[in-house]
Amino acid sequence: STIIEARHISQRFTADNGTELTVLHDISFNLYEGEIVAILGRSGAGKSTFLRALAGLVKPTSGTVKYRGETLTGPNPGIALVFQTFALMPWLTVQDNVELGLKARGVPKAKRTKLALDAIDMIGLDGFESAYPKELSGGMRQRVGIARALVLQPDALFMDEPFSALDVLTAENLRQEVLKLWSSEQRSIKSVLMVTHNIEEAVEMADRVVVLGSHPGHLIANVRVDLPRP
Ligand code: ADP
Ligand code: ADP
Repeated sequence: STIIEARHISQRFTADNGTELTVLHDISFNLYEGEIVAILGRSGAGKSTFLRALAGLVKPTSGTVKYRGETLTGPNPGIALVFQTFALMPWLTVQDNVELGLKARGVPKAKRTKLALDAIDMIGLDGFESAYPKELSGGMRQRVGIARALVLQPDALFMDEPFSALDVLTAENLRQEVLKLWSSEQRSIKSVLMVTHNIEEAVEMADRVVVLGSHPGHLIANVRVDLPRP
């Protein structure tokens, strides 16, 4: 079934010098349950803007975004975000970072603890509950970033260049980890929308690849990949 439905979305920005910049041009796109979609494109092609529009973090200049049939008027409740530079709270432990989103949703402490410890365990961070972000390697920090998203049990994980700040081997390990959670019986990760400029990464992970062209904001390809996974 369809999770997110974007229809004819355009996003224009006015630069400081007054010139108009078209960042998304009349894009229609559906995200379906269970798929991993990679958004490819060069730097500045509008990938992050596209992700943020579908996440309900920016309101498109025109067009509509629906989440499970309802037009979005604010942050999309069914998605959780993972950022390139992790965006962890340095003054909070791993566990408190993971619990933060649940706290914001008013989940009581006992339940928060249980959900957070489950997510921490799932992503291979057990033993690091009391560590602070600065004590962790980049790969471990991004695991915290993923745990913080997983704990919300979202319909879709939105990841913006999640592996770009990591060294090659660490990135490969984490990609495999995400695929493992996605394909596990528990379906700990359901759907993924992932921004990347790395074509190898898109080929390795995605069921479908969407390309934003160098003519800014134009969706120039939307290709389903029907190959069996390794
Ligand atoms: P990508 O993720 O593909 O690198 P972005 O979506 O981050 O591309 O940005 C696309 C273009 O939109 C860039 O030129 C960027 O400077 C511009 N842009 C993004 N957000 C804003 C904003 N809030 N105001 C003005 N320009 C913006
Ligand atoms: P990955 O995330 O793929 O495991 P990393 O480079 O982040 O790669 O970490 C490699 C290994 O080093 C981890 O699996 C973990 O066991 C260990 N490690 C990372 N950070 C710490 C730390 N702060 N203290 C102890 N061991 C760590």
